[in-house]
Amino acid sequence: MRMKRVAALAAAATLALGLAACGDNGSDEGTGSGGESKSFAAGSTMERLNKAQAIKIGTKFDQPGFGLKGLSGKPEGFDVEVAKIIVKELGIPEDKIEWVETPSKVREDVIVNGTVDLVAATYTINDTRKERIAFAGPYYEAGQNILVKKDDTTITGPDSFKDGTKKVCSVTGSTPAEEIKKHVKDVATQLVLFDTYDKCRDALKGGQVDAVTTDNVILLGYIAKDEASFKLAGENFTKEPYGIGVKKEDTDFRNFVNDTLEKAYSDGSWKKAWDDTAGKFGAELGNPPAVNRY
Ligand code: GLU
Repeated sequence: MRMKRVAALAAAATLALGLAACGDNGSDEGTGSGGESKSFAAGSTMERLNKAQAIKIGTKFDQPGFGLKGLSGKPEGFDVEVAKIIVKELGIPEDKIEWVETPSKVREDVIVNGTVDLVAATYTINDTRKERIAFAGPYYEAGQNILVKKDDTTITGPDSFKDGTKKVCSVTGSTPAEEIKKHVKDVATQLVLFDTYDKCRDALKGGQVDAVTTDNVILLGYIAKDEASFKLAGENFTKEPYGIGVKKEDTDFRNFVNDTLEKAYSDGSWKKAWDDTAGKFGAELGNPPAVNRY
């Protein structure tokens, strides 16, 4: 009995030493912040990234609550936190993430051409995008809405653009820009497109446009930063399930991200990520959405 215990203790000690040695692979020198050599399938993206102890992630830099680059120099928000959960599972320290600003219209391109390893950027899963890339998730469901000036009483929903008089701003390559075309009378004169939503917000504040349309949670971020100026006009009128964009053919990596999301749903880290970020701006998190392993 006693011998068995001693043997078990010795085995545990050896294991601990082994793990420590694994973690100390030289590539996380000086960080001490979570680098860990993990064993992944040979040739997989997970193995490549873990060996490199580095990862490039595409996200937004102008969206409060999801991906906003502020004084810290690093983006902050729910997308950023979800990405960090994935990076941790890959055994890569947080400070080895290279954040790449990824406006809506370049998201598929940067995945296809390998500029980034994944995209977490309020990225709606849809079939058109799935022709070029693949999505893990969803990890959240937003919905399209409209931002107006706080004293506006004329715009109450997407059909308020039908009379052809009001200008609405959105972002090139986004699903809301496509959707709102169905509601305006004249796309050429009413729809103003920029590459990032902060430019739309500034145009609304400056009176060049009458409204901004995109996902409710992005607009709630702008309201939270400037409550005196803005409000939402009406209810959400689409469903925008957010996914993590990866290379189309990389099913192993997509499965890994899906597994990681499911783990984050059950261990509380997904909820914590929300509560620490976009959850402060009034939107509901809801139940974890079922990941879609198509
Ligand atoms: N979720 C929408 C999309 O993926 C709008 C937000 C965005 O442009 O990032 O197009």
